[in-house]
Amino acid sequence: MKLIEFTDKGLYCAAGDFYIDPWKPVKKAIITHAHSDHARPGNKHYLCHYLTKPLLQARLGDNDYQSIEWNEFLLINGVKISLHPAGHIIGSSQIRVEHNNEIWVVSGDYKTENDGISGRFEPVPCNVFITESTFGLPIYNWAAQENIYTHIRNWILNNKENGKTSVLIAYSLGKAQRLLKAIGPLQEKIYVHGAIWNMHQALSSAGILLPEVERITPDTSKETLKKSIVIAPPGADGSSWMKRMEPYATGVCSGWMQVRGNVRRRNADAGFVLSDHADWKGLLSAVKATGAEKVFVTHGFQSTFSRYLNENGIASAEVKTEYGNDDEEPANDAGFVESVPDIDEQNTQEKL
Ligand SMILES: [Zn+2]
Ligand SMILES: [Zn+2]
Repeated sequence: MKLIEFTDKGLYCAAGDFYIDPWKPVKKAIITHAHSDHARPGNKHYLCHYLTKPLLQARLGDNDYQSIEWNEFLLINGVKISLHPAGHIIGSSQIRVEHNNEIWVVSGDYKTENDGISGRFEPVPCNVFITESTFGLPIYNWAAQENIYTHIRNWILNNKENGKTSVLIAYSLGKAQRLLKAIGPLQEKIYVHGAIWNMHQALSSAGILLPEVERITPDTSKETLKKSIVIAPPGADGSSWMKRMEPYATGVCSGWMQVRGNVRRRNADAGFVLSDHADWKGLLSAVKATGAEKVFVTHGFQSTFSRYLNENGIASAEVKTEYGNDDEEPANDAGFVESVPDIDEQNTQEKL
C-alpha cells in the first residue's frame, strides 16, 4: 500500500489514519494552509502551523485545532509528521510524512520566491513529492517582486496625478498582505474592503505586524477616498461598492495577468503579474531540489507539467483533486483559462 493514497475524500495516510487537505469531512485533517479549497469545514480535528490556526478560526470558527511550528516532529500512530515552509501565504506549509524509511512530501500551494511574510520555501528531500501545478506552463515566468512593486507604486502615483483613486484587486489572504508591503514606502493611507479587513484583523491579533489600514464602511465619504489607495477582493471588482471611488483606475494583481488578453478580459486598467504560486521555473526547481524518484502532480496544468517531468527523466503521474477554487487558481474564474495559449485539449477540458 502507498504511504499516501488518493481517495475520494482526499490525500489519505492509512498507516497514520489521517488526511491531508481533505475535501470531505474526516476525523483527522492536516491542513497545508488557510485557503478555502485546502482548509474545509466539518473535520473533527485539525492539525496546522500555528500561524494558520488564527486564520482557520476566522474562516471556519471554533474547532478542535492543534498547531505546531515548522520543523517540529510529531508522531501519529507511529508515522512521523512535520511541517515545512511553503512560502505561499502566511502559515502555509508542506507536510512531510515518514514511515518505514519512506518519505513523502505534500507541497500544498507554494511559491519559491521569498516574499518576506510567508516564510522562505524550504526544499524537503523525499522519495515521493506531491506538487501543485497552478502555473505549470513555460509561459509563466515571474519578474522579481521588487520590480513589480515599483510598477505598482508608479501606477499609483500616476493615477493620483490624474485625479484618480487606485483600486488594486487582490485576494484577501496572501496577495493583499503582500500589496501592503509593496505600497508601504509611499507612506499613504490605505483603505480596504471588509473581506481584506477581516483577514487583517485575524493576522494582527495573531501577532503579525502589518501596516495600518482603514476599513471602508458605509460612512466612508466619497471625499476621503478621492485619489486614495484602495485594496479590494476580486468579488468587489465592477460591483456597485466601487461607485463611490469614481473616478478610479483598477489594477488586477494575479499571475494570470501574464497573458495579456486577461487584462482586457477583466476590464482592468492595469494588470500586475504578482502571484503567490511558483512559476514554471520555480516548480521545476522545487521538484528537482526534493530529489524525489516519483512526483505526483495535482491541481493546475497537471498533464503538461507531468508529461514534461516524464520526458525529462523524473517519473511522474497526474492526480485529480478538488483543489483550485480559491486564491488565483483557475477554477475560480474559468475565463482565465480559455485564453491561455498552447495547452493541449485534455488539459483545457479538465479546467473547464
Ligand atoms: Zn492557496
Ligand atoms: Zn491550491
